[in-house]
Amino acid sequence: MSKKIALLGATGSIGTSTLDVLRNLGFELVAFSFHSNVNRAKEIVKEFHPRFAVCTSNKKSDIGVPILYGRDGLEFVASLEDVDIVLVSTAGTIGVFPTLAALKSGKRVALANKETLVSFGPIVKKTLEKSQGEIIPVDSEHSAIFQLLDGRKDEVENIYLTASGGPFRQTPKDELKNVKPRDALKHPTWSMGRKITIDSATMINKGLEIIEAYYLFDMPPERIKVIVHPQSIIHGMVELRDGAWLAHLSFPDMRIPIQYALTYPERLPSPVRTFNPFEVSELTFEKPDMEKFPGLKLAYEVLKEGRELPTIFNAANEEAVYLFLDEKVGFTDIPEIIHRVIELNPGFDHNSLEGLLEADRWARGKVKEVARKLNK
Ligand code: NDP
Ligand code: MG
Repeated sequence: MSKKIALLGATGSIGTSTLDVLRNLGFELVAFSFHSNVNRAKEIVKEFHPRFAVCTSNKKSDIGVPILYGRDGLEFVASLEDVDIVLVSTAGTIGVFPTLAALKSGKRVALANKETLVSFGPIVKKTLEKSQGEIIPVDSEHSAIFQLLDGRKDEVENIYLTASGGPFRQTPKDELKNVKPRDALKHPTWSMGRKITIDSATMINKGLEIIEAYYLFDMPPERIKVIVHPQSIIHGMVELRDGAWLAHLSFPDMRIPIQYALTYPERLPSPVRTFNPFEVSELTFEKPDMEKFPGLKLAYEVLKEGRELPTIFNAANEEAVYLFLDEKVGFTDIPEIIHRVIELNPGFDHNSLEGLLEADRWARGKVKEVARKLNK
């Protein structure tokens, strides 16, 4: 098997793992995108000899291959005739543009960028239904559920997304307000980019994943459950109507779901460390604490309300996380800011991409205003 890949967000954590998968499988990198890391972009060109690079910032540089810029560049490489699969692992909501372009060109989208589905789920789904394209999830929990559902969706009662619980699983609630970025960036089981690592600490990552699962698997919110599993060995479970449960296990390594999204429906050998049950003394489970992690509760509420609320939830979260990383707001301010921004929602046209983009821009603008009031 050989596939031609466009890898968007190639310089990040998922990008780096994906390049390792491509190296191992001998798949061709036709195009990639980077934002600010020019040195890493040069190394990628040197090793993989792609035809195009896309830069999503305005950095002008010579990296040894033609550079396209911004949204247009992402859409161009996502629609290239000789690209089979577009892996979307950019940060933030810009991922929606190449996702839609790839689907319209009938390609497979290997989707890591959950913000795309959370913010623009109905639009992505509509485009998907009308296209010859497909979406294969890369997010580990969704990859697990995707594999477990495997044609038996009608027999499924509930799906379970597992969560490590993050670095503050055992921290008392009233100590959370003093948490600093360096504490929140210490994830117990996964090594990931900074934004998603903070999302894991607030458990808002799991909130985003509930919404992601809703659009991917067409399940009502009350049948998408979260279960804390600190060892991060089980990535997803499904409960069947006859009382049987299925679970997906591996050591935590994103190269497993990435490779699956590229080779599906086949499975090819991989260099990852295979799971060894004798190395794991126990697998434990806890209920998520929605009072301690109000962002998770808010995600369920937002999903039930629908309309433009998931878009606002995602955009406000992203901006609040960056303010927290800059030490401009506290850790527990993140869900509070999102909550307050949602309360101010004047309403947007949630049936169009333009309307949702406007809601996204509005929410980002409101975050600074709300944060200033919180700090007074
Ligand atoms: P990183 O921060 O490590 O990487 C982000 C990538 O996007 C980099 O290539 C970066 O370029 C690029 N980028 C940064 N800012 C922008 C921008 N404004 N526009 C376009 N591209 C940008 O993140 P991760 O790899 O951890 O995560 C990427 C996506 O995958 C996220 O949506 C995340 O939620 C999702 N995901 C990640 C998982 C993980 O294990 N890391 C697991 C599941 C999902 P540069 O470095 O050149 O600045
Ligand atoms: Mg995940």
